[in-house]
Amino acid sequence: MKVIDHINKSDKTLFSFELLPPLKGEHFEHIESKISQLLEFDPAYINITYHQQEIEYETLDNGLLRKRTVRKRPGTVGISAAIQFKTGIDVVPHLICGGFSKEDTENALIDLHFLGIDNLLLLRGDPPATQKYFKPEPEGNAYAVDLVKQVRNMNNGVYLDEKLANSHPSNFCIGVAGYPEKHSESPNRNIDLKYLKEKVDAGADFIVTQMFFDNRKYFRFVKTCRDIGITVPIIPGIKPISTMKQMLTLPQTFHIDLPDALVAELVKCKTNDDVYEVGIDWAIQQSKELIEFGVPALHFYTMGKADNVCRIARAVY
Ligand SMILES: Cc1cc2nc3c(=O)[nH]c(=O)nc-3n(C[C@H](O)[C@H](O)[C@H](O)COP(=O)(O)OP(=O)(O)OC[C@H]3O[C@@H](n4cnc5c(N)ncnc54)[C@H](O)[C@@H]3O)c2cc1C
Repeated sequence: MKVIDHINKSDKTLFSFELLPPLKGEHFEHIESKISQLLEFDPAYINITYHQQEIEYETLDNGLLRKRTVRKRPGTVGISAAIQFKTGIDVVPHLICGGFSKEDTENALIDLHFLGIDNLLLLRGDPPATQKYFKPEPEGNAYAVDLVKQVRNMNNGVYLDEKLANSHPSNFCIGVAGYPEKHSESPNRNIDLKYLKEKVDAGADFIVTQMFFDNRKYFRFVKTCRDIGITVPIIPGIKPISTMKQMLTLPQTFHIDLPDALVAELVKCKTNDDVYEVGIDWAIQQSKELIEFGVPALHFYTMGKADNVCRIARAVY
C-alpha cells in the first residue's frame, strides 16, 4: 500500500522509522532483530536508506597510498523486499542520483516494480567525503527533481527506450526530502523552497524532513510550504541524540541548530549514558508536541540503533 493511502486512511499520527541496510557481510537476522523490537508499535511503513560507494585510501607498507572503492552497505533493494515479504509491512526504499546512470535507475525501478514495492524516497545523495561538490554520473540525474521526473515518466508508461511496445506503467508513490533549516548548499531558504516546490510539482506525493530539534522550525517550514502552494503531507524527521560527540557532528553534518535548552541539558551530562537519556526525553517532548499539532506521521532516524526509538514510541503511541 502507498504511504499516501496510509496517511489518508488514518485519523492518527502514523509511526515510521528509517533503517540502514546491514554492513556488507552481515546477515538479514541482524536487521530482523532491530525490526522486531519496533514492530510492537505497528509501523505503517519502514524506510530503507541507500548508500553510495565510498573512496578509501589505505597506507601500504612502503608508505604509498592505495585507493579503494567500497560499498559498505549494499542491498537496499534486497533488504526492502525481504522486509516487505517477511513482515507484510510496506517499505520505502531510498533511491539516489549519485552513482547511477538513468539506465541504472530504470533497472532498479523495474526490479522494485516487479517486487511489488509501491513507495520510494527520491534523493540526490551527498558528495562522497573525498569530493566537495556533488557530481552526477555522465548519463545520470543531477537533482532529485530529475529523478522524480524519471519515476513519474515510468508511472505514465514512458521508459527510456521510447520505442518499447506495450510498456507497463509503474505506480510508485513518491517521497522527497525537505529541509526546515534549509539544505546546506542552498543560498537561502526561499530558493531551497522553490526547488522543493519543483519536486512536488514534478510528482512528489509527500515530503520527509531533515532532522530538527526545535519544533518551531518545522511549524514555520510547514506554514511557508503551504503559503507557496505545497499541499502534500510533510512528515517530520526525528533523531534522538545519543552521544556527546553528536552535539558537534550533527550540526556539522546536517547543517542544523541545536536549541539552547537542549544544549544546556547536554552540557550537564557526565557520560554518554546521561546523553542517551536526555536525547530520549527531548525526542519524546518533540514527538508529543508534533502529534498534538496533527502531523501525518513521525519518521524516526534510527541510524542502526532501535532501543531509544522503542522507548520514545512507548511513551508517545
Ligand atoms: C529524509 C531524508 C532521507 C535521506 N536519505 C538518504 C539516503 O538514503 N541516502 C543518501 O545518500 N542520502 C540521503 N539523504 C541525504 C540527501 O541525499 C542529501 O541531503 C543531499 O545533499 C540532497 O538531497 P535532496 O534529495 O534534498 O537534493 P535536491 O532536492 O536535488 O537538492 C540538492 C540541492 O540543490 C538545490 N537544487 C535542487 N534543485 C535544483 C535545480 N533544479 N537547480 C539548482 N539547484 C537545485 C537544492 O536547493 C539543494 O541545495 C536523506 C536526506 C533526508 C532529508
